[in-house]
Amino acid sequence: MKCFYHHDKDAHAICKNCGKAICSDCSITRKDEAYCPDCFSNLIAYHEKNLSKMRMIYIVSIITAAVVFFMNVEKSFEGALLMAMWFGSIPIGLYYAFRARSPYVAITLEGFGQLLLIRLVVALLFGPIYTLLSVINYLKAAAILRKNKALLEEIISR
Ligand SMILES: [Zn+2]
Ligand SMILES: [Zn+2]
Repeated sequence: MKCFYHHDKDAHAICKNCGKAICSDCSITRKDEAYCPDCFSNLIAYHEKNLSKMRMIYIVSIITAAVVFFMNVEKSFEGALLMAMWFGSIPIGLYYAFRARSPYVAITLEGFGQLLLIRLVVALLFGPIYTLLSVINYLKAAAILRKNKALLEEIISR
């Protein structure tokens, strides 16, 4: 079988996602699975979308923190800083809490309300921790994305 992209080259792998035959020059291996350049570029686009969603939430967090800070700074600088950190972490906490897989699926409306309440409380309590985790994850994901983009460009230019 010949490569889908290079008709003169023998295929050596099958894309895990679309099943195209691909040669060693254009197969991209991630976690022991081979991908074709098209599917790999879709994967990159998907991760990019996620990261841009995170950036939006960070902006909301920063604005919230700034508003809370300036509303309270006249009373006490330290107090305002602490409150800004706490309130600013709420959007990120909410995002994390609601994205997390729930341990059970609420069936009744009442159950759904309770689940919502639990998540809200968790988001409020652990907001600053979620924020820290979120930023670490974001930076890691952004680094991987940069590497994958460079790899894709190298593959395409062959
Ligand atoms: Zn593919
Ligand atoms: Zn090829």
